[in-house]
Order: sequence, then structure tokens, then C-alpha cells
Amino acid sequence: MEATFGNGSPRSRVVRKLTLTFAGLLLLALALAMVSLYRIAQSLDERERAQSRFHAESALAQLQKNERSFLLTHALWQAAFDHMAGPVDRHWAYDEDNVGATLYSEDGYEGVFVIDDDGTHYAVLEGQLSERAFERLTPSAASVLRQARQAGEQQQAASGYLLFRGQPAVFSAAVIRPPTMPHHLPAPSAVLVFVRVLDPAMLKALGESVGLSGFAVAKAGDVPREGVSLPLAGIDQRLTWHVEQPGQQLVRRVLLPAGLALAVIALLMLAVARQAMRASAAIDRSHRQLAASKTALETSEARFKAVAEAASDWIWETDAQQHLTYLSARFAELTGHPVEHWLEQPLQQLLACDTCQIEHWLQGLASTESTGSLRCQYRDRLGQLRESRIAARAIIEQGTCKGFRGTCSDITDEVAAHAQIQHLSLHDALTGLPNRNKLFRFLERDEPMPLALLMLDLDNFKPINDSMGHPAGDTVLMEVATRLGQVTRESDLVARLGGDEFILVLARPGHREEMDRFCARLIEALRQPIKLDGHSVQVGASIGVVLSAEYPGTPGDLIRYADVALYSAKQAGKNTWRYFSTQLNAALLEKRTLEGELREGIARGELLLHFQPRFKVDGVTVASAEALVRWRHPRLGLLRPDSFITLAEESDLIVQLGNWVLEEACSRARAWPLQIMVSVNMSPAQFSRSDVVRDVADALRRTGLPAHRLELEITENVMLNDVEGALHTMNALKELGIRLNMDDFGTGYSSLGYLRTYPFDSIKIDKRFVQSLGKSESDRSVVQAIINLGNAMGMTVTAEGVETAEQLALLSDDQCHEVQGFLLSEPVEHAALMRLMQAGVMAAHPLP
Ligand code: C2E
Ligand code: CA
Ligand code: CA
Repeated sequence: MEATFGNGSPRSRVVRKLTLTFAGLLLLALALAMVSLYRIAQSLDERERAQSRFHAESALAQLQKNERSFLLTHALWQAAFDHMAGPVDRHWAYDEDNVGATLYSEDGYEGVFVIDDDGTHYAVLEGQLSERAFERLTPSAASVLRQARQAGEQQQAASGYLLFRGQPAVFSAAVIRPPTMPHHLPAPSAVLVFVRVLDPAMLKALGESVGLSGFAVAKAGDVPREGVSLPLAGIDQRLTWHVEQPGQQLVRRVLLPAGLALAVIALLMLAVARQAMRASAAIDRSHRQLAASKTALETSEARFKAVAEAASDWIWETDAQQHLTYLSARFAELTGHPVEHWLEQPLQQLLACDTCQIEHWLQGLASTESTGSLRCQYRDRLGQLRESRIAARAIIEQGTCKGFRGTCSDITDEVAAHAQIQHLSLHDALTGLPNRNKLFRFLERDEPMPLALLMLDLDNFKPINDSMGHPAGDTVLMEVATRLGQVTRESDLVARLGGDEFILVLARPGHREEMDRFCARLIEALRQPIKLDGHSVQVGASIGVVLSAEYPGTPGDLIRYADVALYSAKQAGKNTWRYFSTQLNAALLEKRTLEGELREGIARGELLLHFQPRFKVDGVTVASAEALVRWRHPRLGLLRPDSFITLAEESDLIVQLGNWVLEEACSRARAWPLQIMVSVNMSPAQFSRSDVVRDVADALRRTGLPAHRLELEITENVMLNDVEGALHTMNALKELGIRLNMDDFGTGYSSLGYLRTYPFDSIKIDKRFVQSLGKSESDRSVVQAIINLGNAMGMTVTAEGVETAEQLALLSDDQCHEVQGFLLSEPVEHAALMRLMQAGVMAAHPLP
């Protein structure tokens, strides 16, 4: 009888029992295998999701970090502060492209704004200057402003997301300020904002940077919350990406066939051999497929590693005890340590933090499930201390902390650059001396001690700089800096305020006699000739001194006092020093009062003109009358220009004053019975502070005086500041049809060079030379040389300040063309001039 499975022999029953047991066990084993496979599949997916989320998070974090640091290069910038913190200088910002179109064309910012509490002060949309207000383009404007102010307290930038013209975008924003703000200035408030729209191309690149594909932004409601999306804080949108799902692949490829096999086994349980065969075949197969899906998993890990290796930071992972379990290959490259050496070592043995304990910090991250970052240091293989920043978060699986994972960036260079910026913001770039910021810090020290503050201004520096060029000027300044260092002590401070102004702060200066000796030594040291390739030049110095023991005050006060003293030292002649005293301060106050009175006086019509005729050398024929301004001061009487022109030049009043003189002189001259010229003095300050070509044209047009009857008297100083600009302006003035006369000739620098280039019609020999005619032979030869020069260049030569008949005779012998001076006529009131002209005392000289 054949043994059957149905009702077999004892043997077959044994066999059947064995078979059943075997088959049952097999079934159980298979079922267990399937369950654990399913578990594996699930955790594979979870791990993949967690990894991809980690990469997506780092992509966003990196994006914001980049945005912030790029923005800070524009916002934490002295020049930006000067041109954009107050009223925005659009020429500087947009026309010169300092904060302009390139930010769109090169850097891809759709929006660039300067905003403040009262709205938008500057907007560039897609590279075009725009009048659109930031708050009309995004609902988040107020929040951006608030975040930037908060971050500004730490000199940082804020960043985040907003809807920009309805599109999701990333912004960065920071308060515009210089790298360091002196404490006494009010906190700056204007905020610079950059906006970058998250468009598909930009998102694609962002995803690729961390090895992920399919980066997209969608409405929060349209995407599944958990797993494969991240919220974009501040807007109702989420970032999504494509996630590989090795676990699902596993289920599809292994579990389904295995399940089928299981069913077959269950049905054919009794067909021991074949079923066993089949089952084993199924297992074989499933093994193969498991291997295949393992390969998929390995590919994904390989990609993770590839990303880890490509990143500039290194990536680390620890177990729950914070022992390192993974270090990316970049670790070895950046630190010099072999990876094996550190695996299984505690993280805090590698990294040290002097402000907190890494262990506790990580624990904190685990309990809050948040991401954090921390400044740490470590020693590289060579024992060098490196600065680094670690970012970390806990790996939470099924509610328990399985370890920690994060990145570590080397910020040694960043820290060094920061220190460098700090240094630059406290020192003068040319001489390396402390600047105004450092000076204030020094003066604001906690323990006040008696000190002397000296303000020093170089005499004669400007002409060297102008005639020999800026490199020569720089050499002089550096030499002066060196000499100041030599005469001072370690505990003193030497600062440069800019230009040729220096400040010395001496600790414990002692009495005035000691200070006197020091100042004398200082001046002597500076007077030694300075060698400039081939030449040797000499500078001197005027010094204003204030002793804090005599006049205590804030740093600002002390500097102001020293400035007052310096002013008086300069008035006293060069190469000397003066101490601050309240009397001096009174003089300064008087100056300020006078300035206020002048401002009102101009408006009230207190100015008037006197006129001084200029004659042919025959002394009878008149060529011109020079307008000389006077001020009928309500308290001080009739004032000569010497007592208020400088004052006007130091403030903006000179433009107003100059325009009044121009118009008054032209309108008077138009009514004269003789068709002679009127000469008007122009201050160099007018050239630099207003458009004189327009002013002159306006005066001519309004008064109707023909242009050829107006002559402007200009000193050489007008060319000192801006040679090119002055030449351009003077050519434009000539094109109006007026005449140009060079005043005070012989007192300036390198006059001859200027004369050849500039379009002057005439020159006026300064009265200093004229008045020593007959007394000094050398001055006579200067006068003769000037006359010859004028003749050679086809210019009329005038001598001013002619007081004696002898001077007139000598000038006549030397064939000077025209003369002016008290001998012929003092400056007279307009009415008197009219009477002279009507009486026929003067004959008109035909106009050129
Ligand atoms: P300046 O252009 O050299 O004018 C000549 C100055 O010398 C006038 O002084 C005049 O009164 C004086 N002067 C004339 N003849 C003689 C003389 O024979 N001997 C002596 N010792 N002095 C003589 P004033 O009117 O006090 O003007 C002084 C300066 O003020 C002028 O020097 C000119 O640079 C400036 N100034 C006068 N009016 C104006 C003006 O409307 N605008 C500007 N920017 N400056 C003006
Ligand atoms: Ca003059
Ligand atoms: Ca003059």
C-alpha cells in the first residue's frame, strides 16, 4: 500500500506528522520573514525620508545663510551707511551700481529695497529703479522690518520667506550701518532688503546642491504634512521634493510574490517534497530579491555619502551616548585626523565649546526635537586651534532618541575676517593709526585719568598733495604718522581723523611747562624735511591743546575744545600751539552768532555793494568797476568782507551770498551810463557747492546785462581741489561769453602751469608785490616777469593795491596794462560811482 497523506501508515503518519510540522514551521517561518521584511521596508522608507528631510533642511539653511551673509556685505558697509541710511543717494546706489541693477542681472535678486518706519526709500525691481513701495509688494513688510531690527541688535541679518507679488520668495534684511558705530550716535534705523523669488530653476539648483530632485513649493493644504515636505516659516507654503522609496520597492518585489508563495504553500501543504522544494525555491528567490533591494538601499547610502563628501562641511553622526558612529570623508581632509581614530569616541572629546557643555546642549535638542547650532573649537592634526560651527539635531525613531546627526563647518577664516574687519573699522587704512572710532573707545575708558588731547593740523600739506600728486601726499602722511609715533609713549594714543588732521592723547600730561616742551619737540620733529623720490619737502603743524584737568568733558567736548584751540593756533601763525580756554570758546560762540546773523541779514537785505574802478595805466580811462561786498551789521556797523566771507565759506551761506552779489552787480551795471565791465569776485567754495555756470547764466538772463560786460575774478584756489572739474566749469563759463580774471596772482601755487591750461582773459598781480615796488628789487622783477608772461600769452595784466605815484610810475615803465588802488580810487558807494561816471571824470575804455 502506498503511503498517502490522507490516511497513511504509521510510517506515513509519522511522515505526515513530520511533514505537517515541517510545513507548519515553514509557514510560520515564512510569515515571520514577511513580517520582518515589511518592518525593514518601513524603516528603510523612514530612514530615506529622514535623510532626505535632513538634506532638504540643510539646503534651506544654507540658502538662508548665504543670503544673509551676502546681504551683510552690502548693509554692514560704511559707504552704504553714508549714502543710504538717510535720504538715499540714488546716483551712488543705482547709477554707480553700488546697490543697483547688477544685483538682479548677476545675483538674481528680483527685489532690492531700503525701508524705514515711514515706508520705502529705494526700490529696484528686476534691475529697474522703481517707485513701488515694498509694503505694496508683500504683506510681510512690517514683519521684515521688525526681524531686521531684532537681528540688528547683534549686527546680524534676518532672513525668511514671504510672498512677493504673490510668489513664494526668500528674503534677507539688515539694518544699514557702518561696521562699528560710535556709541554716541543714535542707532541707525534704515533697513536693506533683498528678495529672491523661489522659481523652478532656482529650486532645481537648490535641490541639486544636496543631491535631491523635484524641489517645488506648493500651498500647505495641497501636500502631505509629514515625511516629504517642510514648512516655509512665515508663509502658508511648503517645500516638497521627490523621495526614493526603497521599502515600497521591497514590498512590491518581495512581499507580494512571497505572499503568493505562502498561499500556494498553505494550499499544497501536504505535497511535502514538492511544496518544500517550492518553498525553498521561493525563499531562494526572495533572498535574491532581498539582495537586489539591498543594492537599492546601498545606492541610496552611497548617494548620501557622495553628498557628504561634496559638502564643504563635514557630517557626523553619533549614537544616543554621543559616541561618533559616522564621519564623512571631508572630516579627514579638513582636520587631518583619520576617521577611524575618532569613530566610537565621544563627540565632546573632539569638539570643545567654551560657552556651554556640548553634551547638555545635544540632550536639550533631543528633548525639544529642534535643530541648533553652536560655536566650537577643535585642534587639527597639527595641533592648530580651529574655529567651527556645528549644526545638530536628534535622530528620533518611534519616540526615542537613537542618536544625533549634524554638520560641522570650519569658520576659522570667517572668524579671522571678522577680526580683520574689526581692525579696519578701528584704524585708518593709510597710516594704520587708530581712527575716530578707536579714539572714542580710548577716551570712553572706564577709569578716567588726567589727559591732554592735542589736535594737530599740518600746515602746507594741501599744496604738496595737489602739486605733487596723491602718492606723494600719502608718503608725507605716513612719515608724519611715524614721527608722531616716535615722540609719544606707549600709553599715549595717536589717531588720524582724516585728511591732514591728527589727534594725540597723552596720559598724565603734567603741567603746562611740560606740555610746552612736548609741543615744541613735536613741531620740531615734524619740521624736519621729508624725502620724496628726488625732492625733499617740509611740512609744519599747528596744534590745539586741551587739558582734561582744566576742562573736563565728554570725548566729544574735548575734541571740540581742541578744535577751538587749533583754530586759534592757526590764526596766530603756523607752527605753533594754543591751549583751549573759555575765552577762546567765547570767540567761537561769537563766530556762531555772527553766522546766524548773516543768514538772517542776507534775507533782510543788509548786504550792499561798493565799487572800485580799474583804470588803464594812464589813470583816466576806466576799464571796469569791481563789486566789493559790505554788510551793514545792525550791531557792529559796516563790515568788510574779510570779517564774514570766511564764515560764509565755512557754511552753505556762500552760495546765497555769491548769488546775491552776482545779481545785484549785474543789475546795477546794466543802468550805468558808461558801457564798462563789472567785475565780481567768486569764492572757490561757490564752485564746489553750486552750479556756477547756471547761477551766472540766470543772473545775466534776469538782469539783461550783456555777457561781455561781466567779468569774474577767480583765485587759483579754485583749481586746487578739483583741477579737471574746474577746467570744465571755466570753459563752460567762457562759452556764456563772459570774461575771466585770475585774482591775487602770485600768491598761489604753480600758477604758471594753471595759466597755460585755463581760459583766463586777464591776470591781476597781487597787491603784496605791487606794494613793495620801489622797496624790493626782487618783487619788482616778479612784477616784470608776470607782465612779460601776460604779454606772451595775450592776457591783460592788472596791478591792484596801487597806493603811491611811484608805484604807478614803475608799473607804467614796465608796461603794465591796467591799475587799481587807493591812489586812483578807493571802493565807493554805488551812488558815488554813478556821480563820477556822470560827471565825466572817467572815460570809458572800449570793451574788448
Ligand atoms: P580782493 O578781490 O583782492 O579785493 C581787493 C581788496 O583790496 C578790497 O578789499 C579793496 O578794498 C582792497 N584794496 C583796493 N585797493 C587797495 C589799495 O590800494 N591798498 C590796499 N591796502 N587795499 C586796497 P575788500 O573790499 O575788503 O575785500 C577784501 C576781499 O574780500 C577781496 O579781495 C575779495 O577777495 C573778497 N570779496 C569782496 N567782495 C566779495 C564778494 O562779493 N564775493 C566774494 N566771494 N569775495 C569778495
Ligand atoms: Ca578781486
Ligand atoms: Ca585781489
